[in-house]
Parts: sequence; structure tokens; C-alpha cells
Amino acid sequence: MPVENLKLYQSWELEQPILPERSRLFSLPPVGVGTAIVESLSSYLIRLADAHGITVGGLIRYYIAPLFFLNEQPPGLSKKDAIELVVVRLRKELAILQQPTAQFWLSQTQHVSKVVNVLEILTGRKDISYLTLLPWKTWRLSFNHIFHTQQRWCAGCYQDWRDANTPVYQPLLWALEPVTVCPYHQRYLQIYCLCYGHTQPFFQPQKLNGYCHECDAWLGRNLDLPSHSRSKGRKFDRDLWIAQALGNLLAATPSLHTNPLIRETKVTPKRTLPTLYKFLRWCYKLSLSPVEGLNLLEIQ
Ligand SMILES: [Zn+2]
Ligand SMILES: [Zn+2]
Repeated sequence: MPVENLKLYQSWELEQPILPERSRLFSLPPVGVGTAIVESLSSYLIRLADAHGITVGGLIRYYIAPLFFLNEQPPGLSKKDAIELVVVRLRKELAILQQPTAQFWLSQTQHVSKVVNVLEILTGRKDISYLTLLPWKTWRLSFNHIFHTQQRWCAGCYQDWRDANTPVYQPLLWALEPVTVCPYHQRYLQIYCLCYGHTQPFFQPQKLNGYCHECDAWLGRNLDLPSHSRSKGRKFDRDLWIAQALGNLLAATPSLHTNPLIRETKVTPKRTLPTLYKFLRWCYKLSLSPVEGLNLLEIQ
């Protein structure tokens, strides 16, 4: 057969494809980074454990705690000694990684920074710090008592997410003490389950988001969207403004900081710092958006 009659096939690509670095855990995207309703770290842990079909206790014990304690080992240890020390510390201190408060999981402490670091290693993600208040660490504000002591939630948001088949989660916004209103449904957040009036801890290692930790009741329900023609009074309007303002701050946070984990903190005596609530009241009185207020009032 003449050469011209032979069929010419495409040549094979023999180069090895470049694979992105593998992460030990599924790189589950957090919900809503860069929006007012960005997910909280405690909610993310619950969904991450569920995505792997394990309990949050198992996730902490077998994945997070070993890396957490390994990072704290004195340098120069042999691998065998390091592992033995981790096992001893795990036995003694595992309980400290299962505390139920928002302060423990979402604040600006060194501990939260280390948990975020470990989770970023395990998932290969770089956005976990936005699920905490770590990016606000350098702001010249006092963050004492910044979290509610019980979990609050919007039943309408839970229901909408479930109906839309999107992840049911706890936004960081709902954990903040000045926030008492859902900015979307414009209703006060709930504190009690409607079945038996149970309150909810922030971190419920045995439960999925959106269910009562005591009676398993679904915490969502259909709520009408707000009618903008009617004011619900001055107090409600101020509470709604605060929720929206803090939502705007959380939404703007990723663009305000490039690397919140390594940025240096300016040392300012704590007693001179205004509280976050006071800062918001200044912005409210001056008709400033809080993002504008950060610069104009020299907070950031
Ligand atoms: Zn809502
Ligand atoms: Zn209940």
C-alpha cells in the first residue's frame, strides 16, 4: 500500500501530567467565604467529619490531635520519642480539643491559630482562618465577650438551605454577641428548640448542623421573607443594622488581609481599646459603613 494511503493518527502525549499536591483529607470547601454568612470553624469540623463518614471525635482524635501535639514537640527529638510523647499527651489532653464553646473554636488565640494551621495542612486549603476571628487579630478593638454563650440560629435559613439541597451549616455571624437578628429573614435569631425548649451548645460533636442536640428535632422552619415597607421599631432597626454591618465586615475580611496567620500584632494596652460593639455604635451614629470606619477611625 502506498504511504499516502495510510491513515495518520494523532500522536500520543507521553509527558506525565502534573498532579496537584494530594491532601490527607478531602479538600471540602467551606461555605460562604467572602460573604456575610461565611461558615464557622466548628460547623466546618462537623461537615468535614460527616464528609469522611467519621465522628467529629474521631476526626479530632486521629487526624487533628496528633499533628497538633506534634507541632508542639521540642525540636531535636527522635521520631520514636516524638510519637511516644504524642501518645502520652493525647491520653492526657484530648479533652481540651473537644470543648463546646465558641470562644474555644473561633477566637483569636494561639490555640485557634494552631488548629487552623493543622486543618490547612490536612485539607490543603488556605482559607480556613476566615472561619474564625483570627483575621481581626490586629484590629485595635477589644474582643472580650465577643461570642454568645449559647448557639443561636435562624430557622428560616436552615429551612431554605435544606429545601435548596445546599449544606446546612452555622454561619460565624450568628456566633457573634452583638448579632441577634438574621439579616436575610430579618427576624430575631432563635435560642430554644421549638419541641422542648432545649438550648444548643456551639460545638455538638455527635450531631449534624441544624438538629437539636437533646431531642434530635429539626431546627428549621419556613419563614416569610421580610416586607421592606414596615419598620419593626427603632431597637429592631438598630439590631438589624448591627447584624448587616458585621456581615459586611466578614464579607470584606478576605480582601482586607492577605495572610492573617503570620501578620504581626501591634501591641496596644488592652484597656484603651474600644469594644467591637462600641465601634459599631460610632459607625451607626456617623452613618459610616464599618469597612469605611476601620480606616477612618484608625481601627485597622
Ligand atoms: Zn435567616
Ligand atoms: Zn430539643
